[in-house]
Amino acid sequence: MMVKTVKEALEAGPGTYVGGGTDLMPLLKNHARDDRTLIFLHQVEELRGIREEDGYVYLGAGETLYDLSVHPLVRKRLPAVAQAAGVTASPQIRNIATLGGNIMQDRRCVYFNQSRFWRGGLELCFKTGGAICHQIPNSPVCRAIYYSDAATALLVYEAEAECVEEERRSWVPVAELIRRHSQANGLACDRRLPALVVRFRIPVPPEGERSGFYKYAMRATIDFPIINFALRAGGGRPSRAAAGAVAPEPVPLEETAAALDQGKDRDAVTAACQRDLARLALPIREACVPPAMKRGLYSHIDILLRSLTQSDRG
Ligand SMILES: Cc1cc2nc3c(=O)[nH]c(=O)nc-3n(C[C@H](O)[C@H](O)[C@H](O)COP(=O)(O)OP(=O)(O)OC[C@H]3O[C@@H](n4cnc5c(N)ncnc54)[C@H](O)[C@@H]3O)c2cc1C
Repeated sequence: MMVKTVKEALEAGPGTYVGGGTDLMPLLKNHARDDRTLIFLHQVEELRGIREEDGYVYLGAGETLYDLSVHPLVRKRLPAVAQAAGVTASPQIRNIATLGGNIMQDRRCVYFNQSRFWRGGLELCFKTGGAICHQIPNSPVCRAIYYSDAATALLVYEAEAECVEEERRSWVPVAELIRRHSQANGLACDRRLPALVVRFRIPVPPEGERSGFYKYAMRATIDFPIINFALRAGGGRPSRAAAGAVAPEPVPLEETAAALDQGKDRDAVTAACQRDLARLALPIREACVPPAMKRGLYSHIDILLRSLTQSDRG
């Protein structure tokens, strides 16, 4: 059903929120999910808006990825978010896909993203109501990967999300929101009404800070990331770096950030990133991408470092 306010959206539940539907609809069509009550959010005015106020940049959860990618404020203050939004999926998808939907997207796995008929030949996995992960059979949890591009960028800016749950509003760190979403998303039985995400806020970055986003995908024009990186450095505060599409949630690259703050050269920062990912990444088998190929991409942060250094030189 179509709703026009946050209040109506909450009253319409229990159900599944729909932003642009670009992640959800293919899953429903394939009967990979069977959500019955759909709550369409695109007319909810409160979910729109991109503005700077009281030291924060606010991004409505209903803003499209296209609008975020071209908005002057986002490009100036949060280049990693604009760049991530601008390379997600395809132009058609970016025109309707929302930031909220991108963060709350389903985790993916070659055993889950199939028709129900295909999956009928397999034992149920964690994500379909069973008690096994077909990727890593001795894993106590689902190991499907979380591919959001925007999430990696929001994490390095220490974004928070305004969430409404059972009529209670609160600001939740995006890292915590993703952790909770990722855990629930790996369990078919966990169909509690998820938090409605209204908007995101990001502290305005200090002058002199550099930040950016890099993504490697099989096809540049339309594809999920095989790996993505975001980082920010300079401006008088500690650097932050993160990588996505390597685990059930994006991973913080702490040794990498420390190497940046110690003024290490590009090779040393890249080596630190490889060590961070050797510890934190949990690659699984993906369509056309064996784990060994993904491990070979851990050094690609070097491409992002190089582009930030070049942009410094003007
Ligand atoms: C061919 C293809 C390529 C893709 N490539 C990429 C890619 O490269 N990178 C990438 O990150 N993603 C990719 N995606 C996934 C998806 O299209 C995007 O993540 C998109 O941003 C999802 O946004 P949406 O508004 O369409 O989400 P929807 O499909 O509407 O929703 C996705 C999930 O989020 C929930 N949700 C939506 N809005 C809210 C809200 N306000 N509050 C709480 N929950 C909400 C929904 O209930 C649903 O569970 C791709 C998808 C396709 C089909």
